[in-house]
Amino acid sequence: MRIVLLGAPGSGKGTQAKLMVEKLNIPHISTGDLLRGAIAAKTELGLAAKEVMDRGDLVSDEIVLGMLKDRVTQDDAENGFILDGFPRNVAQAEMLENLLSELDMALDHALLIQVDPDEVVARIAKRAEIEGRTDDTEEVVRNRLNVYAQQTAPVADFYQEQDIVTEILGKGSIEDVQARIQAILRF
Ligand code: ADP
Repeated sequence: MRIVLLGAPGSGKGTQAKLMVEKLNIPHISTGDLLRGAIAAKTELGLAAKEVMDRGDLVSDEIVLGMLKDRVTQDDAENGFILDGFPRNVAQAEMLENLLSELDMALDHALLIQVDPDEVVARIAKRAEIEGRTDDTEEVVRNRLNVYAQQTAPVADFYQEQDIVTEILGKGSIEDVQARIQAILRF
């Protein structure tokens, strides 16, 4: 099963993906995690990405696509994956289509996790205290939410045209949201 998770920063994509991995036995591929890995490893790519991420802007499509391509073609992703953080704009959605069709693959589901903007801001503020991510400061979060509204929200329309979008209510406990996802995917 090939799944794309959509939703604002702080909507719970990463948290839900980790629970799905346990059941579905397919990897969780997060471009945010891949980028943070490159930063931690102090690669040239990581250094270039860090500045952009710390502003809350999007890293270049080429860089992210390159990382994604390497990851999606690894053996453990042969039977599927849960993609989190990609595509983040319509150009990336088109790149993903091309990449998957080259590999003779297609997406099965795009799950759009819907959470109120106030709730998202509160969750990220809490995460900032716990994890200390450099892009979780108030000003940067505001920019990330703008980038989401302008560039990422249209990705849902892109998949709507393919009729693979399901909206998931992101309110309630982690388990509540997971149960909604499992009901849709039937596992
Ligand atoms: P969140 O979903 O909370 O915004 P992520 O960990 O997914 O957090 O992403 C953090 C940052 O990494 C983004 O603000 C952006 O700078 C960069 N990033 C992640 N995925 C992509 C992508 N597909 N394209 C461009 N930049 C990305």
